[in-house]
Amino acid sequence: RSPTYSGSPEKNGAPSNDEEDKPLSVAEKSLLQKIVRKGLIESKQELEIQRKDPHSPLYSVKTFEALHLKPELLKGIYEMGFYAPSKIQETALPTLLADPPHNMVAQSQSGTGKTAAFSLTMLSRVNPKIQEPQGLCLAPTYELAIQIGEVVAKMGKFITDLSVRYAVRGENLERGKKITEQIIIGTPGKVLDWGLKYRFFDLSKLTVFVLDEADVMIATQGHQDFSLRIQKRLSPECQIMLFSATYDKEVMEFAQDMVPNPLIIKLKREEESLDNIKQHYVLCKNIDEKYEAVSNIYGVVTIGQAMIFCHTRKTAAWLAEKLTKEGLNVGLLSGELTVEQRLSILDRFREGKEKVLITTNVLARGIDVEQVTIVINFDLPIDMEGKADCETYLHRIGRTGRFGKSGIAINLVDQGSLHVLKEIEKHFGKKIELLDTEDVDDQG
Ligand code: ADP
Repeated sequence: RSPTYSGSPEKNGAPSNDEEDKPLSVAEKSLLQKIVRKGLIESKQELEIQRKDPHSPLYSVKTFEALHLKPELLKGIYEMGFYAPSKIQETALPTLLADPPHNMVAQSQSGTGKTAAFSLTMLSRVNPKIQEPQGLCLAPTYELAIQIGEVVAKMGKFITDLSVRYAVRGENLERGKKITEQIIIGTPGKVLDWGLKYRFFDLSKLTVFVLDEADVMIATQGHQDFSLRIQKRLSPECQIMLFSATYDKEVMEFAQDMVPNPLIIKLKREEESLDNIKQHYVLCKNIDEKYEAVSNIYGVVTIGQAMIFCHTRKTAAWLAEKLTKEGLNVGLLSGELTVEQRLSILDRFREGKEKVLITTNVLARGIDVEQVTIVINFDLPIDMEGKADCETYLHRIGRTGRFGKSGIAINLVDQGSLHVLKEIEKHFGKKIELLDTEDVDDQG
């Protein structure tokens, strides 16, 4: 058997691999969230809509046909496996596609269909017969821009003569050239250069402008300023849309500067809960007993997959190596990996190539992978002072409505961390049952 775990931090002799992982940047989180999710999050939460213009027709559609799209576009949507609009789409699309165009600010968590909504809008607004940029979408990073481009390309696959241009690092154009693609997707700095400095295209000729991931955008130095400078060059007729996964004060202020008279749509985030989760703990004397427990549990993971959380990279790497030596297929994900490495490990896990993914704190919220049925806390989450980190516990283990069915959490606890377990129990008001690992297969 060939060991399949990848990305050992010890291979290159990384000097301080027992450090706790640094949290991911907002951009990295956002990207990973996009990749990890295969499907749509169908939120049960209500939409909150703030109408700017009381006379604007605000209705919602339950089908894509009702939007009277170009047949080629409808074909693209169906080929992507979209049968009906998501919640945010059913409200946003009629307004986004209305004539005259309406500006919009929309907030809903990652995975609810925002990208698909604005891609559709751009595609239905641009004229493929005209060979110059008409739609522009700004994204905070190279990787996020590529993600969007892939959606636009797929959705617009049947529209003849339509093409997309990336304005991101690595892309270059000869001086004096003009861009002929109808849609540009890029990062603010490059777009500003191309539009203003080199005049590869005319910003005032755009008819539709999208700013995606506004919350990530403002977290990146310079992006906000560049975006505003781009916005100032648009014609007053250009439709402006801004999307964000969160909607705090800073995002709101940025949105106000960017988007004149918008219709504002907000979809509340679904709360995670421990309601359908069976929580257990196993008492272990030391790390070797913890290892024994994991190996017993591995033996009974027949349906679904498991995630194991460790406190340090060193423990994570140690555990991965030991399990791999036993011939088990495990993935290891920790902070020192590049985004590309993380993505490939996550992809493998999502495809089921590994049954177990071992990770440090980094990704607690990113991985709402449906098939994860068991979460093992090899170490309980604690804060800097050694107290229970209940929020992280909830992100690791809690589920939102979509995954509502059931899940199992197993906490490996030694004498020293028993008090953390008690704190967690108390915080959530839910009992965590003692589990004898020998009986683990009786626990449904
Ligand atoms: P967001 O931009 O809010 O993160 P996306 O537009 O990327 O959300 O959509 C999340 C996932 O759901 C993607 O995998 C996308 O292909 C899928 N999706 C989007 N809209 C629909 C729909 N109407 N029906 C089915 N799947 C959809």
